[in-house]
Formats: sequence, C-alpha cells, structure tokens
Amino acid sequence: MSMIKTKDLTFEYIRRDEEGNVEGITKAVDDVNLNIRQGEFITILGHNGSGKSTLAKHLNAILYPTEGTVWVDGKDTAEDEYLWDIRQSAGMVFQNPDNQIIGQVVEEDVGFGPENMGVPTKEIWERVEESLKAVGMYEYRKHSPNKLSGGQKQRVSIAGVIAMHPKCIILDEPTAMLDPKGRKEVIRAVRALNDVEKVTVILITHYMEEAIYSDRVFVMDAGRIVMQGTPQQVFSQVEQLKELRLDVPQATLLAYELKKAGLPLEDGILSKEGLVEALCRL
Ligand code: ADP
Ligand code: MG
Repeated sequence: MSMIKTKDLTFEYIRRDEEGNVEGITKAVDDVNLNIRQGEFITILGHNGSGKSTLAKHLNAILYPTEGTVWVDGKDTAEDEYLWDIRQSAGMVFQNPDNQIIGQVVEEDVGFGPENMGVPTKEIWERVEESLKAVGMYEYRKHSPNKLSGGQKQRVSIAGVIAMHPKCIILDEPTAMLDPKGRKEVIRAVRALNDVEKVTVILITHYMEEAIYSDRVFVMDAGRIVMQGTPQQVFSQVEQLKELRLDVPQATLLAYELKKAGLPLEDGILSKEGLVEALCRL
C-alpha cells in the first residue's frame, strides 16, 4: 500500500518586491515522482536549498503543487475536504523544538494534539503515556519542557505528533540544532517508531550517518531527486556524492580510499563496525 505518492510534482515560489510586483520565480521542487510504501523508513538528503523542506511541506498539505499531484494515504492533498485526514495521517516535526512545544508540563504538551482532535479524555492520557514511552521520555512527564535538553525537547515534540496516531511522520532536520548526544537520542527514538510502531518515517537530514538505518535514501539537488536506492547503493557512489556537496560518512570514505589503494573491500561500507568487520575478513 502506498503511503505517499507524488506524480510530476513541481513547486514554484513567486518572489515579489515591496510593492508586490513579481521579481522572479524559484522552482524549488522540479518534477518529483515518489512512491513511499507504508512502513518504510526513508531518508532525504541534500545540501541547503536543494528543496527538501519544500517537498516535505507538500506531504502534509502545508504547500500545494504548482503542477502535479500528491497523494497521502490515497488522498489528493489539493482537495480541501481531505485536509484534516491528511494532517492526521502525516505528522510533521520541524528543526527547532522550541517552536513546537507549547505546554507548561511535558504530558500536557503531548496531550494537546489529541485533545484538539476531540479524543476522549481517558484515551488522551493513554496516548500521552504510550507516546512518551515510545520516545523514552515517560519519566519526564511532570517536568517543565523549558528545563529539558534539546534532544529531550525534540523527543517530546515527536511524542506530541505520535499521540495523534499518524501513519506517517515527516521530520525536517529534527537533529540540526542538537548536540551529538541529542542527535543520537532522537534518531534512536525515530528508529523505534518505525521498527516497533511500524510508523512510516520520512527523515530529512544533512547528517549522512543518520541515513544508514533507512530502507531507501533519496538525494535531492536543485529540486530534483538525483540519486535513490538503499544506503549501500547510494553511499557507494562516493564521487557523485562529493559532487553534490554531501559529506560521505567517515567510515565509507576511509573504506573507499583503502579500496582505491588496492584493498579488496566491498562498496558501500557505512559504519566503523562494518569497516572493522570487512578488514578482519581480509
Ligand atoms: P532545503 O530545505 O533543502 O534547504 P528549501 O525547500 O528550503 O530547501 O528551499 C528550496 C529553494 O526554494 C531554495 O532556493 C530557497 O531559497 C527557495 N525558497 C524556500 N522557501 C522560500 C520562500 N518562502 N520564498 C521564496 N523562495 C523560497
Ligand atoms: Mg530545509
């Protein structure tokens, strides 16, 4: 079953000057065709300005196509009558957790979404508990969000989204403002959502290391999907990734250099552990 599908999706921003006259047009998404199945873990990579956020905003009807069509769980996002269904099916987490947390207490914050949806009170509390447990933040339920670390806040905002029981969660650079520890916590929580809860995950990041757990990786450049495949397939194209100004994971780069120097290593080694294993097998 297709969770998200786009056909010939193109989006143009119209730039205007102070008087409102059209100054120019930026084609931010250019003829993108995607088919993401329910339960998949997808990573979207690409340098700044490549169109990742603009694409993401189409996946829960924040933006509508200039041309082409987007379907979320089979529903055309351009049809107004589906807006609520779409927003409920596909939840969105943004870069800055401070802009997403509104409650004074963690559990209250997580309860806002289901409350707005009209979920009965008893079920709200069940959802809050289950969502906070899913991201490893249950013991902080009575805390004030202001006192949490960046990684903890971001996990609370993820809990807020999953309390609405979405089929799909789109995370737009959720780790960009976090330290390495916070990044790990968030990625671990996201992986668990996919593994355990079977939520479809679309993770946008520019940390290549975070992409290695996904089923498929898409690389964007100038609004287009220019590479796609499993992490192994994509990360074995070291030269092409460098041309796209992406940082290849350190272990991959080292394996690539060792291979160029004559060691018979396989392509697409993604982690330190993978490299060590491959070297021990030689
Ligand atoms: P990414 O998330 O990969 O950094 P974006 O989707 O934010 O890329 O941006 C894609 C392109 O669209 C860039 O050229 C950017 O400058 C332009 N853009 C983004 N948002 C707007 C906007 N609100 N108005 C005009 N142009 C925009
Ligand atoms: Mg962006």
